[in-house]
Amino acid sequence: MNLVTSVQGIASQEPHRTAYHFMGKGTTYGEFDQSVAKFAGALQELGVEKGDHVAFLLSNTPHFLISLYATMRLGATAVPINPIYSPDEIAYIVKNSDAKVVIALDKLLPLVEKAHLAFPAVADYIMCETEPDLAGKLQQLPTEVKGKVSDFTELLKKAPAIGTEVEVATDDNAVILYTSGTTGKPKGAMLTHGNLYSNARDVGEYLKMTPDDRVIATLPVFHVFALTVVVNAPLMQGAEIVLVPRFNPKEVFDAVKSRKATVFAGVPTMYNFMYQYPDVDPADFNTVRLAISGGSALPVALLHNFENKFNVRVSEGYGLSEASPVTCFNPVDRERKAGSIGTSIINVENKVVNELGEEVPPGEVGELIVRGPNVMKGYYKMPEETSATIRDGWLYTGDLARVDEEGYFFIVDRKKDLVIVGGYNVYPREVEEVLFTHPGITEAAVVGLPDPDFGEAVHAYVVLKDQDLTIDELKSYCAEHLAKYKVPKHIEILDELPKNTTGKILRRALKDQAISK
Ligand code: AMP
Repeated sequence: MNLVTSVQGIASQEPHRTAYHFMGKGTTYGEFDQSVAKFAGALQELGVEKGDHVAFLLSNTPHFLISLYATMRLGATAVPINPIYSPDEIAYIVKNSDAKVVIALDKLLPLVEKAHLAFPAVADYIMCETEPDLAGKLQQLPTEVKGKVSDFTELLKKAPAIGTEVEVATDDNAVILYTSGTTGKPKGAMLTHGNLYSNARDVGEYLKMTPDDRVIATLPVFHVFALTVVVNAPLMQGAEIVLVPRFNPKEVFDAVKSRKATVFAGVPTMYNFMYQYPDVDPADFNTVRLAISGGSALPVALLHNFENKFNVRVSEGYGLSEASPVTCFNPVDRERKAGSIGTSIINVENKVVNELGEEVPPGEVGELIVRGPNVMKGYYKMPEETSATIRDGWLYTGDLARVDEEGYFFIVDRKKDLVIVGGYNVYPREVEEVLFTHPGITEAAVVGLPDPDFGEAVHAYVVLKDQDLTIDELKSYCAEHLAKYKVPKHIEILDELPKNTTGKILRRALKDQAISK
């Protein structure tokens, strides 16, 4: 059994169930399965074979779902890339992944036009229409490019359904996901069919997803959190995916209301924007039985504010690309602990260890390591990085954590973000949590910067809600709640904080900016 066969099973047993809803139109599992078979046929005609790599520069539209399941059905490997990466970043991943075909949004046509010479290994580009008149634009391409570029919709119309079904093994790569990891250039985490299937199954079961769930998919689908939690897990259950292509609070609230959505998944920044959004009747969120947060730490103050306003339980989980991604979640049928990432999900072991790799007692801080069927095969073409990350069968996450007596894990911070002030450890997250409890603040990020007296000093960056709030007032507020060495030495007010496209606040960018000043 794998993701493809499991969705095929639903399509044959319940073809009329809605698989996904996009721009006011529903598509059934039967229709989805047919499109997947046809698109797999189209890829086969283009010469895509088992083991080939197909890069995706796509966002939350049906093109992604069809491309993913068609690629996996052929035993080929999907390489999802963030379509708004810079041309250099895209080029690095397309080349490093040895992609043979690129499937891209129509707005990337100018990039494709330039790229066809730069990527000799790419034989074909398939463009997906999201704006009017793709056909006209394709007509205007220079002849030497035209032969390499086709239109997704046209291919789908003309293609025969898949000819020969391909045998896919549990250990075959399904997806290669590029992640910055802890250091250096992006690395391609190879996730097998077994990895993705087990994580989608175990997350779905742990969160009690059912065929009656309608799941909002606004997290970007090229990121692993979305891939498993709002794409694969719901499809495996026969649930409905409600695609919301670009996150903004209004569109999410509208989609929840019109589809009576039952599950929402977001990163903390999304929760913050939704909480601050003024024009919503919280009762419109009543159909949501489960709100899921992950991707970065959800400040406890925000968790409580959101739960109180929308009368919904927010369940925080944790994961990383290398673990397909989920390792922990707050359970839906037992206590959820604020500030915790919950307990180990089914089939996955989490452990907190010291520098020697020995497990530490509850309450003590160490590195979180993970073992289970969800852990990646390794990094593509990077054996050294792989053996530095997976040791004795355990994945070293680079995150510092502690576990309590009841098996609930708490992420303390990333190992590399630890700030050492005159020999004392300061975890930026602890300071951010305090700043977040101040009603005059909407966002906060804390980093360590070099300091002549103490080695490092704590610097905080805040976005204000109350424009009259002064830096001195904030410092005294911190002093009331934190030990002296943890109180930010400097606080800077910004209009907004730098974030990546999955909404994670980029502490690194703040630090680099400050150092280069
Ligand atoms: P990525 O591989 O891009 O998904 O990033 C994984 C990293 O995100 C982890 O190693 C953590 O540092 C961070 N992360 C994910 N979920 C959480 C969470 N609930 N709390 C704190 N950090 C998180």
